[in-house]
Amino acid sequence: MSDLAVGILGGAGRMGRALVRAVTEAKGCHVIGAVDAPGNPEFGKDLGVLAGIDPLGTVLTDDVRALFQKADVIIDFTIPRVTAANARIAAETGTAYVVGTTGLEPEQQAVIAEAGTRAVVVQAANFSLGVNLTIALTRRLAEVLDDSFDIEIVEMHHRHKVDAPSGTALALGRAAAEGRGVSLEHVADRGRDGITGARKRGHIGFGVLRGGNVAGDHTVIFAADDERIELSHKAGDRIIFARGAVHAALWTAGKPAGYYTMQDVLKL
Ligand code: NAD
Repeated sequence: MSDLAVGILGGAGRMGRALVRAVTEAKGCHVIGAVDAPGNPEFGKDLGVLAGIDPLGTVLTDDVRALFQKADVIIDFTIPRVTAANARIAAETGTAYVVGTTGLEPEQQAVIAEAGTRAVVVQAANFSLGVNLTIALTRRLAEVLDDSFDIEIVEMHHRHKVDAPSGTALALGRAAAEGRGVSLEHVADRGRDGITGARKRGHIGFGVLRGGNVAGDHTVIFAADDERIELSHKAGDRIIFARGAVHAALWTAGKPAGYYTMQDVLKL
């Protein structure tokens, strides 16, 4: 199989730079280019230099269509509005598309699902192996334990994060709800403040912390009378998400069009 040409959207961002490093260190793929928002001060700079590694001889641009044309697979870690527009281009060009942007509105999410009818699309709120295992374990525990176990999900992220709860916390919540055979929308408690009344049986609660440079901590708590199970994952560096996204990008080669998640990629 030939070396996969990977294009990165959001190339000047925190994840974009980690992705340039992860693609460069992986076997079987190389960075074909990266794009960021029009007017970005980093335009024209070498992608390797931006990522803190040796120069790659390719510079940051704003020509997203050209990147879709020349890449075998695109990895998108940008912002929701831009991601929805990019998913439309993936559907038009049939380019494999790996998407990690979180905080999508339902109509933006629908565009991504729709792209999966015409291109290989892999989406995950969190691309790390450890988190995906934690999601699978959460689903399993929720299947086995009845609602005498209250489920609470606590997350902490760096001070720059703009959406809450994190996409990963919501994915953990969805897994817990699936395990219980309910819809998360019907049982989620997303913001408690003031006189909230007693906790409702069967609800799934979310707690959100922000501060420092925390890459991403998640804990799922199953609390019953007199016993408690806690599943915790702590990310030490965002490179783990980038490596997972590159793993997903390599996995897309030769796959039929479809909407996939990291649970499919890892066969969980
Ligand atoms: P960031 O703000 O550092 O990077 C986002 C980049 O997108 C910026 O450089 C911004 O200029 C760029 N951008 C904005 N408009 C653009 C456009 N029109 N075209 C191209 N680029 C554009 O944020 P980040 O920390 O890198 O996170 C990015 C997203 O990825 C967030 O939604 C975050 O929650 C998500 N994320 C997902 C995972 C995962 O595993 N799925 C892990 C970490 C972060």
